[in-house]
Amino acid sequence: MYENFEIWWVTGAQLLYGGETVKIVDGHSQEMVAGLNASGNIPVKIVYKGTANSSKEVETVMKAANNDEKCIGIITWMHTFSPAKMWIKGLQALQKPLLHFHTQYNKEIPWDTMDMDFMNLNQSAHGDREFGHICAHLRKPRKVVSGYWKEEKPQKAIAVWARVAAAWADAHDMRILRFGDQMNNVAVTDGDKVEAEVRLGYHVDYYPVSSLMEYYKKVTDQEIDELVAEYKKLYTIKIDESGEQVYWEKVRNSAKAEIALRRVLKDEGAKGFTTNFDDLGGADIDDPKFLGFDQIPGLASQRLMAEGYGFGAEGDWKTAALYRTVWFMTQGMGKGCSFLEDYTLNFDGDQSAILQSHMLEVCPLIAANKPRLEVHFLGIGIRKSQTARLVFDSKTGDGVTATVIDLGNRFRLIVNDVKCIAPKPLPKLPVANALWIPQPNFEVGTEAWILCGGTHHSALSYDISPEFWEDYAEIAGIEMVHINKDTTVSGIKHDLRVGEVYYMLNRSVLM
Ligand code: MN
Repeated sequence: MYENFEIWWVTGAQLLYGGETVKIVDGHSQEMVAGLNASGNIPVKIVYKGTANSSKEVETVMKAANNDEKCIGIITWMHTFSPAKMWIKGLQALQKPLLHFHTQYNKEIPWDTMDMDFMNLNQSAHGDREFGHICAHLRKPRKVVSGYWKEEKPQKAIAVWARVAAAWADAHDMRILRFGDQMNNVAVTDGDKVEAEVRLGYHVDYYPVSSLMEYYKKVTDQEIDELVAEYKKLYTIKIDESGEQVYWEKVRNSAKAEIALRRVLKDEGAKGFTTNFDDLGGADIDDPKFLGFDQIPGLASQRLMAEGYGFGAEGDWKTAALYRTVWFMTQGMGKGCSFLEDYTLNFDGDQSAILQSHMLEVCPLIAANKPRLEVHFLGIGIRKSQTARLVFDSKTGDGVTATVIDLGNRFRLIVNDVKCIAPKPLPKLPVANALWIPQPNFEVGTEAWILCGGTHHSALSYDISPEFWEDYAEIAGIEMVHINKDTTVSGIKHDLRVGEVYYMLNRSVLM
């Protein structure tokens, strides 16, 4: 799944102990890299790039990493003492994510036989501190993982970083298309697209809905037939108040919109998109009867999300990009992710929860059961009409949701651990939903989220731990606030005040 990516492993050493020592270090490093690759725990191939024994060698490998498209990050490990002044120029040059692995070739000290030579050879305890110091001095963003390399715990910590580094690389090759602008007057989903590209890597463009309509018009009946046949296989067909004729007409329109959207995204090389219910195309000069989309293409958005396209409703390009990142870094993990919106509250003591939903667009990857394909009236937007959508309840269990906001001088990533619980039956609700209790509980979780300035839109995953977002924020150099089981409102206020000061300095001094 990340077969086009590599992580480079560079071992720090020096020639003080002679060339023979470096050869042993080299052999150990190869064995360790092979062992990590064989563990099955790390989803990106690690490539051993040799020992670095001088400033020039470090600089050369770091610059090569920058210029190598496959390389998504570097793991460093100091087998022996590697005087860290020789890492300064290389670390200054390095633009890829960095993981510093504090480990050791041998697991235990050979108590009965250890002599001075052995101790000099196995000096990670020493060398990794020297290396850590220069990273700290340079304020170099990095993840430090400590532990024995053959054990699962450090391997899994590396795996998290590897997935995030892969998503970071993906974000730097990510184009988001906006079909229509931001929903008028909405503040929280808007932001600085220039700064987003500078900080977060992805590029946001607008794409005229009139051009999308050119694609829409060209979709053939046969293509629609084929896609509708796929719907019939995948979903439960549920014809309600709209009646059979309207049902199939609207399902066909939705299929047509999906084909057009997928085609534009492919042709434009885009990995995500946004829509706006007030901009659905319209009559053209040649064909005044052509009305464009009859409603927002909700079913298309649901299905494209499931394929990995980023999606944000109402022009929310930040959440579209964030969703794509969540989907990308959780590939193969299997429990699912979705764009969601805080919709309605349910007060119920310690089970007080927030119903997550949207007008239409919830990703079927999080469905607990086979989704139902339904057609209902949607009275929001420029063209009020019946339209198709997938309806389902979502999986229960622990999840992590996240959003990014633009505070003017910085982006803030807000992360909330959530507990998804089963809703009561919702026979009249015509959209998919999830129900969650924000951690540590409804009151503190929502008070903290609101104090942080969090959006009503977020990207939920059942697969990731907060460590993913911690690694992401570290790589991106953006603020992260994590609302979890230990959160208190006064603690969050303190974090936010510290962040104000830190990020005032950060731009000019630290980066
Ligand atoms: Mn919304």
